Amino acid sequence: MGPPGAGKGTQAKFIADHFSIPAISTGDIFRANVSQGTPLGVEAKRYMDAGEYVPDEVTNRMVSNRIVESDAEHGFLLDGYPRTLAQVEELDGMIKQTGHQLDAVVVLTVDSEEIVQRLLQRAEIEGRADDTEDVIRRRQEVYAEQTHPLIEVYKARGLVHEVDGLGEVDDVTKRIFASLSETSES
Ligand code: ADP
Repeated sequence: MGPPGAGKGTQAKFIADHFSIPAISTGDIFRANVSQGTPLGVEAKRYMDAGEYVPDEVTNRMVSNRIVESDAEHGFLLDGYPRTLAQVEELDGMIKQTGHQLDAVVVLTVDSEEIVQRLLQRAEIEGRADDTEDVIRRRQEVYAEQTHPLIEVYKARGLVHEVDGLGEVDDVTKRIFASLSETSES
């Protein structure tokens, strides 16, 4: 977890590789559907372009279909999900069905000024439609309102690993692994 621009996608790949599990990114799946022009993509696009969340129903269905694929049998990393309280509940139900359990929630903390800089830079490189300045601001707001409260929910379950997301990519990765290995040894 972490606000838009915290570097979730980058770190998700390293973590997933390390544990030989798939990194399942709801943002990537939505973007793939948008570029392929699928009905899901058409629906998702209007929300994404405005910096809003895609409706829970749509997102939940997509994740529940994805985590039953064979590559996820022995575990998976979710990037960008859950993002709402309703999604937290839905995920609990899904993994009860599949027999998985939540082992850890990694939260990347970053300064908001740093975030805006990163996102503007990424907009130049990738040209994402949801990377204009207004939309960037809206996405930070939506995160603060709808997703930030989830950290407390997972803290209460003792799952949260808060990691400083500022600095070199490699350093952040090292911090994540250091934090994750602390619990597995305790
Ligand atoms: P970032 O990594 O920049 O935070 P993502 O690539 O994860 O953004 O997501 C891009 C967009 O896809 C979000 O702004 C939102 O519209 C949609 N999206 C992704 N995950 C979810 C989710 N769990 N619930 C609702 N919408 C989502």
